[in-house]
Amino acid sequence: MIMAVKRDYYEVLGISRNATPEEIKKAFRGLAKEHHPDRNHEDGSAERFKEINEAYEVLSDENKRNAYDRFGHAGNGSQDFNGFGGFGFNGFGDIFDAFFGASAESETSARPGSDIHTRITLTFEEAALGCEKEVTVNRVVSCSRCHGSRSEPGSKTPRCPECDGRGRVQRVQQSLFGRFTNIVTCPRCSGEGRIIEQPCSECRGSGKERRKHTINVNVPAGIDNGNAIRLSGEGDVGEHGGPPGNVYITAQVQPHEYFQREGFDVHYKLEINFAQAALGCEIAVPTLYGEEKVKVPAGTQSGAIFKLKNKGIRRLQRSGQGDQLVNLRVLTPEKLTKEQKQLFEDLLESFNGGKPARKKAKR
Ligand SMILES: [Zn+2]
Ligand SMILES: [Zn+2]
Repeated sequence: MIMAVKRDYYEVLGISRNATPEEIKKAFRGLAKEHHPDRNHEDGSAERFKEINEAYEVLSDENKRNAYDRFGHAGNGSQDFNGFGGFGFNGFGDIFDAFFGASAESETSARPGSDIHTRITLTFEEAALGCEKEVTVNRVVSCSRCHGSRSEPGSKTPRCPECDGRGRVQRVQQSLFGRFTNIVTCPRCSGEGRIIEQPCSECRGSGKERRKHTINVNVPAGIDNGNAIRLSGEGDVGEHGGPPGNVYITAQVQPHEYFQREGFDVHYKLEINFAQAALGCEIAVPTLYGEEKVKVPAGTQSGAIFKLKNKGIRRLQRSGQGDQLVNLRVLTPEKLTKEQKQLFEDLLESFNGGKPARKKAKR
């Protein structure tokens, strides 16, 4: 399908030269729906759709519309987006997406492949200390049968007669300043330069297929819940020689049975009884690096915090690590044996300077 000489944008949208922005939007919506390639499969409807979008892109923007009113098509650059203003068709995808929630039909210029987003589940220790994990993604790669050429191996791919294999054609247009030449993507071969007579039987001419791709991921020490690891170039293959996309892996860190993370510090709750707090004690507590002894001095209060220096989480992409903070809690005994009860009563009496613990209620 060869695109005719550019039509006047007002004519394309079927509106008058002094149409209001509301009238422009209304005309565009109606026409875009009518000619949307997903609904309208008539010959030329895709071209018509592009034309409508292009007209709207210019006329809906005050600056571009002014330039167009003064200079015609030359005022807004070419269809190939390389006009003076630097604008032109770039907004096409945005407009398309905004109205139809779909991606724009393929353009032939090189485009990077899509990114792939996935997740990995890590234990608290794996996240704190780093680990290696295998991650499998479903990746778009070049078709293994046609190697991305899109045509059936052995079939003919004659040079495109329209562009003589260059993939681009010149369009001459008339404006107040004279004749302008624009270079546009060849509409016959979509920029490929070759005509595909027999599409590849494996990929049906898309040149791509999905394949499982397993990646060894070095999970950095110190990664936290929600942090993402980027693997450059491991995403979907690019279009027309564009670079591949990236893979983003978001970490989901499982909660630990008794450790809690705060920044790069680890909190640990240690419960001791009255006697241990009053007399002092030495207790082994777990850390990320094995057991450590904590000396609780005599007379320690509930709520005291002991710091185990450098026993916390490794700092992400830096050296060193946080601390482990041991949060002490003195537990009040809830059940006492007869013997213990007596001991507490004696203790109370001794604290009260020899007075009895309490008066027994008379019955
Ligand atoms: Zn193929
Ligand atoms: Zn061509």
